[in-house]
Amino acid sequence: MAESMVGLKRTHRCTEVSSANVGENVTVMGWVQRRRNLGALIFVDLRDRSGLLQILFDENEIGREGFDKAYTLRNEFVIAVEGVAAKRSGAVNESLKTGDIEIIAKSLRILSESETPPFPIEDNISTKEDIRLKYRCLDLRRPDIQSNIIMRSQVATLTRAFLAKEGFLEIETPMLTKSTPEGARDYLVPSRVHPGKFYALPQSPQLFKQMLMCSGYDRYMQIARCFRDEDLRADRQPEFTQIDMELSFVDVDDVIDVNERLLAYLFKEVLDVDVKLPIQRMTWQEAMDRFGSDKPDLRFGMELKNVTELVKNCGFGVFTGAIENGGTVRGINAKGQGMMPRKKIDALVDFAKGYGAKGLAYIAIQEDGTLKSSFAKFMSEAEMNALVAALDGQAGDLLLFAADRNKIVYSVLGALRVELADQMGLLDKNEFRFLWVTEFPQFEWSDEEERFVAMHHPFTMPMDEDIDKLESDPGAVRAKAYDIVLNGTEIGGGSVRIHQADIQERMFAALGLTEEVANEKFGFLLDAFKYGVPPHAGLAYGLDRLVMIMAKRDSIRDVIAFPKVKDASCLLTNAPDVVDAKQLHELSIEIEEEQE
Ligand code: ASP
Repeated sequence: MAESMVGLKRTHRCTEVSSANVGENVTVMGWVQRRRNLGALIFVDLRDRSGLLQILFDENEIGREGFDKAYTLRNEFVIAVEGVAAKRSGAVNESLKTGDIEIIAKSLRILSESETPPFPIEDNISTKEDIRLKYRCLDLRRPDIQSNIIMRSQVATLTRAFLAKEGFLEIETPMLTKSTPEGARDYLVPSRVHPGKFYALPQSPQLFKQMLMCSGYDRYMQIARCFRDEDLRADRQPEFTQIDMELSFVDVDDVIDVNERLLAYLFKEVLDVDVKLPIQRMTWQEAMDRFGSDKPDLRFGMELKNVTELVKNCGFGVFTGAIENGGTVRGINAKGQGMMPRKKIDALVDFAKGYGAKGLAYIAIQEDGTLKSSFAKFMSEAEMNALVAALDGQAGDLLLFAADRNKIVYSVLGALRVELADQMGLLDKNEFRFLWVTEFPQFEWSDEEERFVAMHHPFTMPMDEDIDKLESDPGAVRAKAYDIVLNGTEIGGGSVRIHQADIQERMFAALGLTEEVANEKFGFLLDAFKYGVPPHAGLAYGLDRLVMIMAKRDSIRDVIAFPKVKDASCLLTNAPDVVDAKQLHELSIEIEEEQE
């Protein structure tokens, strides 16, 4: 039977009681983690969000009725206990914050009972994730998830405090809006009042934050929910959270400066980790050449080496063919992996194929220095030795080569490098390696659309020295765009924006956007730009990813209270779901029956 808590007031969370309180009366409330009967004594571990506290029920202290009630306690019952804090009668539990004390209960109320939960409320359970997400309310009670959610709250609070001190204003932007130019598919919301018309949920506050700069707010920040209806990928969420910001009268270095200090502050306050400033910077081109990625993980080396020159006249058609088609040959050295069994090498080849490679050439240097290789028979001994030397190959190393168009070579070796590092145990979650990647290309060629598309977004400013190439050589234009990368994950990105109408027009032209289309899409921003626009720049972090890395997790689902799964559904609420015919009618929407 559930009792009320009338007349009781909680005095402490479980782990707020300490040996300093010995002899005092306390009232604690929480969930029963565990009950143990030792004949005349009953022990209960009480849990709340702070941790565990041992309660001792002794018939001589609580009386017959109270003792009998304690006997009925089961896991996850919610109880209130009044009692006296005391030094533990039994052994001290070193692993608990409250391990040297216990509460000697004087009264007990059962505030609510619980059915047996579908899985135990403790860390490191092997329960399948879909069960945990269906019963997320229980899953969220587990200490490891709870500490993630608490850390997330801390990060948000500290970010607000830090940016407020730096002169940022927190301003909300609309959720019901028009499509924003981030390039993914929009989530649409039908309008009842305007039949046939739709709002879009924002992919980011981009246009609004730029307008706020036009309005003179100078420094804006928001912890903003964003929505992107992208294709299903393992660790994507249809809605995610950004720490979004925009600043006026600034250039690249100013944005980087305030953000470095923000990151250093967060890591110090939350994890007691010192981030060495300034954070290393690398141009996009250098990142691609050395690591095959625009978000290189710098916790380990295994850099790419360009061996095109060495093999351009060799007898191996895979290499020479790629070079003749304008491509390159590059390799990486997986140190100490030379004895990798053939099966595992084949798995790496399959992995590479997943990134567009036609194959993967390898040289396994045996312990005695002899070479085992997939392509030696096409090569002279001197050529093989030159390849080994170029990759600094030692006895016991495994050298892997990709030959193709640059784009594919980068993506194959970039991914392989991380995969190997993972297999080799080089990815230490306790190490935090930050990197700014700068000077991104302004445009990216889209084979699908057969035109240049903006790599960041159409409002990104080209680098001053590249502006005159907008028409003559768009592929060579670099942007004032930057990403902040942590351990191989892009945790944020942004750019300096175009604030001059003439450059913006040339940008739209390079993207193949007519004035008409540009006006239809972003007319309200372009209008705002007619009345005095300050130079401005900004950046947005993915809060979920940032907290995931800080919490040393592998999935952003572990740092989101109510995440969705891969097919964008919510296992807890069953969203998305069908709605009443009446609701559809009000929205003038008819559902097409799916054809058999
Ligand atoms: N709106 C951009 C994004 O979501 C970030 C920025 O440019 O500030 O990636």
